[in-house]
Amino acid sequence: MHLRTMILANVLMGRNHQIPIALESFCRRFLAKEPALKRLEMTKQDKVLFPTMVSRSNALKLNNWISKRKRTAGIMAPPDLESFFDKIDEGEDWESTVPKLVLNQLGLQAYHQGGTRPPAPVSRPRESPAPSPAAADAGTVGSNARSRLNNTKFDPIFQRFKELSGISCSDLRKKIAAEKIPALPVSKVDGGPMCLAWHVRAECNQVCGRKCDHVEYASTEYTDLLTWCDANFKRE
Ligand SMILES: [Zn+2]
Repeated sequence: MHLRTMILANVLMGRNHQIPIALESFCRRFLAKEPALKRLEMTKQDKVLFPTMVSRSNALKLNNWISKRKRTAGIMAPPDLESFFDKIDEGEDWESTVPKLVLNQLGLQAYHQGGTRPPAPVSRPRESPAPSPAAADAGTVGSNARSRLNNTKFDPIFQRFKELSGISCSDLRKKIAAEKIPALPVSKVDGGPMCLAWHVRAECNQVCGRKCDHVEYASTEYTDLLTWCDANFKRE
């Protein structure tokens, strides 16, 4: 699959473009390491999903890179596909989870529960609304408090943004729409923007247009969003 993408990228972008170069380099390293890669144990899902996981992870990385490329003037580092191998070599967490939604789209429903991890709940528990200081300025909380959804898997790396008053997610989204600040990083679920309120404020609502992104992320998957927040999640 990568080889095919690489050939296509070569044809479309020319040999010297950063994307085909990154893909070629990834493929070369993948082929060289193939026997060792085949021996790797997957802990989060069935091993059969290894190629799906790698393809999806690289597709997301390239997607992110292209969207950054569009809003970055001048020289930019090439897409980093090879950190995957570095993580394996360094004993870091290299395994990303293929979400249920993607498995469904690929007709791989049978692998929902293939991993050793207990199956994820079908839907997040809806908690009764509790008064919260963040609620008043979360922006996405509808007037109907019953529509609120709490992110019970909130990652405390966003705590300082969650507590930041005087700024709302809707303000930030307006700034994005006006191109005053860059777009949000891409969701691992469908390639659309991540839901800022869900991940950073730990609550959103039933009618959120990005509800499909209300899923659990590993801390390592939050790198781009954290960088985005550091740069843009602030008052004027
Ligand atoms: Zn949302």
